[in-house]
Amino acid sequence: MALMITDECINCDVCEPECPNDAISMGEAFYEIDPHKCTECVGHFDEPQCVQICPVACIPLNPEFIESREVLLHKYQTLQQAKPEK
Ligand code: SF4
Ligand code: SF4
Repeated sequence: MALMITDECINCDVCEPECPNDAISMGEAFYEIDPHKCTECVGHFDEPQCVQICPVACIPLNPEFIESREVLLHKYQTLQQAKPEK
């Protein structure tokens, strides 16, 4: 599953730089997670980094994006391949 940010977000900015997939960005009123980029940190870390750092615990699973670990791993690999060469 991808994760999502609820309207309890206080726009503290700390989660955005922690996301290894650049899935977090400022939305119209509060931060948002692009579900097509969020892998729940699978492939990068054991735990979702945004959830670990969020001071108000406003990042639940996104019920519209139910994905198995295998699907998340495949998404991670696809995102890695799409990254520009450094
Ligand atoms: S769970 Fe990981 S990949 Fe998903 S938004 Fe949070 S930091 Fe980014
Ligand atoms: S860490 Fe939590 S409160 Fe802070 S911007 Fe991210 S989602 Fe919002």
